[in-house]
Amino acid sequence: MTKTMKALQLVAANDLQLKEVEIPKVGENEVLCKVWSTSICGTDQHIIDNYYPGYWPKSFPIILGHEWSGEIVELGKNSDKFGWNVGDRVAGIANVGCGHCKNCLEGRWTICLNYGKKDIHQMYGHITNGAYAEYISVSIKSIAKVPDDMSHNLAACMDPISIALHMIERSGLKIGEDVLINGSGAQGLYSVILAKAMGANRIFISGSGSRLMKGAELGAIPIDYKKENVVDYIMEATDGLGVMRVFECTGTELGINQACHVVSRGGCISTISLPKDDVKIPIRQIVLDEIDLHGSRANPNTLPRAILVADQHIEALDSMITHVFSIEDYQKAFSIFNGRLEDSLKVVIKPNGFEK
Ligand SMILES: [Zn+2]
Ligand SMILES: [Zn+2]
Repeated sequence: MTKTMKALQLVAANDLQLKEVEIPKVGENEVLCKVWSTSICGTDQHIIDNYYPGYWPKSFPIILGHEWSGEIVELGKNSDKFGWNVGDRVAGIANVGCGHCKNCLEGRWTICLNYGKKDIHQMYGHITNGAYAEYISVSIKSIAKVPDDMSHNLAACMDPISIALHMIERSGLKIGEDVLINGSGAQGLYSVILAKAMGANRIFISGSGSRLMKGAELGAIPIDYKKENVVDYIMEATDGLGVMRVFECTGTELGINQACHVVSRGGCISTISLPKDDVKIPIRQIVLDEIDLHGSRANPNTLPRAILVADQHIEALDSMITHVFSIEDYQKAFSIFNGRLEDSLKVVIKPNGFEK
């Protein structure tokens, strides 16, 4: 093995470069993985654009990339004792809690009380070096094995898929309930598949263009927010009652307010979206109608179950991976993804080239 590797390093705000860097060392509860696929996330560009100065990342340089899959090539001192083997195919996620605080011990490690503290907390591709690289050294808490029939490209999407699952579970969805998914980006579309698997009755999805059509193809009832008033549409379709669960994936003031106005009395809005700035919400209505408003952060303990569900919907999920590029073509990959060009949805980068 060579001592260095190719990696996409953010050397300063707005300055992403393909560099030759050292292959990371493996800690005792870590594994070194050869990265086969890393999927581009909307958050990547926000980090590049310095949306979160001093938070993501804490300092430069940093290797970005947190939606990834690969193969274990080296075990840390203890990793085999936890059942990991060289050659295991794995999907990775961004978050790892400190493992020792109250929230971590209660399984809520994406809201770790030691979040961001140097040496005791990691978040790959945000605070800690990530997966736009030939190799990544990761905690065994941040990976899960993937089945042989799942491609590396799809396995790289298990981070966002398991995030969508957490959002839906936080809503308390029950079999037979109507839901609205606000937003037809990747998270909204993953939510269609998951909400269906979890027994939702009618699944409405708001959005526009080819992404909304994809939602319809997956079995949701499409609402083009550019042509229809989403609130009126839902109220008419539900005899004025609204839907019990709303999954908010737009991150816009309009989308968040629509969510508040279509949710049924006693219902729940579970939100995954992170608006750039805070937005105004109708808090009086939320109080008077006993609306539960659940923030939903990342994917605590949903990765293994998300993989099992995804394994039953491989064809639909594969069809959402529209573009695949070598790491050398990263600029083209980012511009297609960011510009939503060529009906792109999930765009994957191959740090080790294309597997045979
Ligand atoms: Zn992501
Ligand atoms: Zn913690």
